[in-house]
Amino acid sequence: MTSWFRGCAVLLWEVGSDDPRQEVFCTKIRKNQVVYMTEYNAKDAEHLHPLIHSHVPSEPALRVKALETLLVEKGLLDSAAVDAWVEVYSDEIGPKVGAAVVARAWCDDGFRERLLADGATAIGELGIQGWAPNHLKVVENTESVHNLVVCTLCSCYPHRLLGIQPAWYKLEAYRSRAVRDPRGVLAEFEVSIPETVRVDVWDSTAELRYFVLPQRPEGSEDMDEQALAALVSRNSMIGTQRDLPIETGGA
Ligand code: FE
Repeated sequence: MTSWFRGCAVLLWEVGSDDPRQEVFCTKIRKNQVVYMTEYNAKDAEHLHPLIHSHVPSEPALRVKALETLLVEKGLLDSAAVDAWVEVYSDEIGPKVGAAVVARAWCDDGFRERLLADGATAIGELGIQGWAPNHLKVVENTESVHNLVVCTLCSCYPHRLLGIQPAWYKLEAYRSRAVRDPRGVLAEFEVSIPETVRVDVWDSTAELRYFVLPQRPEGSEDMDEQALAALVSRNSMIGTQRDLPIETGGA
């Protein structure tokens, strides 16, 4: 059995299927049992193959998966630890850093002006390092402008501020349609932008990442910086959310 064949089968297992033949086949693979050539059935293979490849992730994702599998097999890595790190970076570290930047900008006009003038240098004031000057462009939502960020080429994203990008940010459907039909894409996020509000779409690159400064919600005048930061959602800093509710932070 080739590693290619095993890799396809493991992927198929993870995708899941209602076809009992696939389950039997993949159970053997999962348990590292050898699939003998006498069990090979050309008709099954013909049936399975397109199904397998219709679900194959991108090449970088496959490489990462292969590397992770190898490290786990050698006892150098714990899959649960990887999951925990991904979760922390997705939900905790990243968006909270960005939210703190937004809250500071809402509370300090001088910082807000410096942030809009040169984002990379301004966030350095908060101890957020690792950016070259002018490599971060902060765009501000106003009553008359809404900003939406995309990377049309791949998935460039201000990780230090927002953590790991959501899966939809990497999808071709988002990357292409955010440019062609931003209002339509926003509607799918349940964001309705009045015709009187201009929508600007910003294309992030490896050299220049964009970050949206959302509007401070009405009714938040008495809240302190920490409480304000809790209102700021990840999506509002990408531009797929416009209005921030006072009660809780969103996605
Ligand atoms: Fe990119």
